[in-house]
Amino acid sequence: MHTTELSRFDVAVIGGGIVGSSVAYHLLEDNPQLSVAVIEPDPSYEFASTPRASGGCRVQFTCPENIAMSLYSIEFIKKFDAVMSAGGHAAQAGWVEGGYLFLVAPEHTAALEKNARFQQEHGCVVELLEPAELKSRFPSMNVSDLGLGALSPQDGWCDPNGLLWGFRRKAVELGAKYIRARVVAANLERFKVESIVLDDGRVLRADAFVNAAGAWAGEVASYFGMPLPIKPLPRLAHYFTAGSPMEKIPYIKELSRLAFRSEGQGFSGGLVNEQALRGFNFEIDHGYFERVVRPAVAHRFPVLEAARCHGSWSGLYEQNEFDGNPVIGSWNDSLPNLYTVAGFSGHGMMHAPAAGRAMAELILQGAYQTIDLRKFGYQRITALLPYSELGIV
Ligand SMILES: Cc1cc2nc3c(=O)[nH]c(=O)nc-3n(C[C@H](O)[C@H](O)[C@H](O)COP(=O)(O)OP(=O)(O)OC[C@H]3O[C@@H](n4cnc5c(N)ncnc54)[C@H](O)[C@@H]3O)c2cc1C
Repeated sequence: MHTTELSRFDVAVIGGGIVGSSVAYHLLEDNPQLSVAVIEPDPSYEFASTPRASGGCRVQFTCPENIAMSLYSIEFIKKFDAVMSAGGHAAQAGWVEGGYLFLVAPEHTAALEKNARFQQEHGCVVELLEPAELKSRFPSMNVSDLGLGALSPQDGWCDPNGLLWGFRRKAVELGAKYIRARVVAANLERFKVESIVLDDGRVLRADAFVNAAGAWAGEVASYFGMPLPIKPLPRLAHYFTAGSPMEKIPYIKELSRLAFRSEGQGFSGGLVNEQALRGFNFEIDHGYFERVVRPAVAHRFPVLEAARCHGSWSGLYEQNEFDGNPVIGSWNDSLPNLYTVAGFSGHGMMHAPAAGRAMAELILQGAYQTIDLRKFGYQRITALLPYSELGIV
């Protein structure tokens, strides 16, 4: 292995998935003079979370920061095709304004109603639907065990791969340099990261370093001596058809963590297995759909007892084991030029536009300008003060 020095960059972004690419794009959009490197080992993104995501974007959160990031990001995604074409390629976010529908049993109606009111106060369109209204809008739905639904009709879903490549190509057009390599170590000074070491032996110096390595962020943080409680949480998703006609449905979410929506002629989604072991595991349990998912979707829509699964895939949530919210900001206490933007715990695709904007503001201006994300800083982990989503996620 030879050791060569790469030229020095203003900012080095570690991980070129949707989050890292959004950071690079926003940095260069704010300051086209910057030199930005994105270190990404795999341009096919075979194991990255982004292309395996289901594309959902919603405002139904309880932390104001998550609501604000969703509102910003959804507007951004709606305009994406018009503003992000680059290098002769049209951008294609594939936005579908299909809505999100949270469903709860009678004992949880008060919580759902409180959350919906809070979201409305924060500028979100959320309608509360009694079981009879749910039935009239979605005739195939079994509402016998439901107390309430909350529909956010301006939410929807998009194509994560289209979004990722739109950001990446635009960042490159603006001058970002994607380096095909893996970060394997860091050289530290007393209060500063001096450089990072790549798996081909090259050393890359920069003024600021951004850990945007998704499910690998905990591992990457360890190269800097930073304890970051982000772990890979395997998740299965499925594409299935109904077997007989059924109405189009929004992105349905239930407390059991059942989540599915219309996709083309069928449906896509799954049911999160909370017991899944953490790890970089991409194995597919081919019996999971029949055992767990089909009974759950058929309970909600009895016509789906005839559901047929055409394909399953697995991907990783970048789970923040501390409180399920992202860690965004600099490691002020130790290495202030090391920034983290990871741990979205399954919401990183939808929040990537806002997170990239925020990171650019923090690095270039020293403070958030658009959305105040200070509560997502690493300080809460040092202080052992979790900041979690309440109610249903
Ligand atoms: C089944 C499934 C469904 C999902 N559905 C949704 C959804 O509906 N809505 C939503 O918002 N989110 C969803 N998510 C979550 C979403 O996919 C992630 O939050 C998001 O993709 C995170 O983006 P990222 O750029 O941080 O990570 P990634 O896309 O994983 O990118 C990280 C990159 O870091 C690179 N990397 C790793 N190690 C190193 C290293 N040492 N050096 C340099 N680079 C490195 C990797 O190669 C990778 O390309 C879903 C996830 C799954 C698995």
